[in-house]
Amino acid sequence: MSSTHPIPPASGQVSGLEQVRTTLAAACARAGRPPQSVTLVAASKTVSPEALVPALDAGLMVYGENRVQEAQEKWPGLRERFPGLELHLIGPLQSNKARDAVALFDVIHSVDRPSLCRALARQCAAQGRRPRLFVQVNTGAEPQKAGVLPDRADAFVDACREVHGLDVIGLMCIPPVGEPPEPHFSALAEIAARNGLDHLSMGMSGDYATAVEYGATHVRVGSAIFGARAYPAPQPTHP
Ligand SMILES: *Cc1c(COP(=O)(O)O)cnc(C)c1O
Repeated sequence: MSSTHPIPPASGQVSGLEQVRTTLAAACARAGRPPQSVTLVAASKTVSPEALVPALDAGLMVYGENRVQEAQEKWPGLRERFPGLELHLIGPLQSNKARDAVALFDVIHSVDRPSLCRALARQCAAQGRRPRLFVQVNTGAEPQKAGVLPDRADAFVDACREVHGLDVIGLMCIPPVGEPPEPHFSALAEIAARNGLDHLSMGMSGDYATAVEYGATHVRVGSAIFGARAYPAPQPTHP
C-alpha cells in the first residue's frame, strides 16, 4: 500500500502515532516479544473520516469503534479507498445490532452474554461471515460495566464454543478507572491461559506499555494517537 499511499508529513491528527509505535516497540523489546505479536487497534470513536485519512496514509490499518451506528456512517467509504483495513468493535453490542455488527466488523471484543452469542451465531450462519471474537471479562466486577464476571468466564467461554460454535480467540478487559491495572491484566491472562485462548485485548492510552508486559496481543489506543476527544468517551456499560 505504501506505493499508492505515501506517508505524509506529520499532521496534527496523527501527531501521537509515531510516539505510540515507538513506545510499543520498546515495550515489546523489554518483554522479549516480537513487535508483530502486538496489534495496535486505533480507538477511533469521535474521530471524523477526514481526520482518519492521514492515519490510514501512515499505514495504520486496524481501527476500533465503540458504536455500530457511528462505524456504519464512517467506514464503508474509507474501506473502498483502503481495502486492507480491519475494523474491530470494542464497545458493548446489543443483540438487535448483531446483524449489522457481523456485516461490518472483522473482530468483536465485547461478547459477554448468552443472548448475544445466540444472535451472533445466527448472523454468522445467515451471512456466511465469521468475525473473530473476544469475550469481555469484567475483571473489577463493576456493576455498571459490561463483561462476564471472572468466576463465570470459564463456563461462558465453553458455552460460546460448544453451544454456539463461535470463534472465540481471546479475552478483553477494561480495568476500573483509578485502580492500578496490573492485577486486572494478570487475572485476564490467567483466565485466557487456562481456557487455551491465545489473544488478550487489554491496554489503553494510559497503560498499553504495561499491558504488553502482561501479554497483551491487542492494545486499544485512542487519545494517545489522535489527541484528546472533544467529549469524553462513553463509559462502557452493560447494554
Ligand atoms: C475509547 C476506548 C479505548 C481507548 O481509550 P483511550 O484512553 O483514548 O486510549 C479503549 N477501549 C475502549 C473499549 C474504549 O471505549
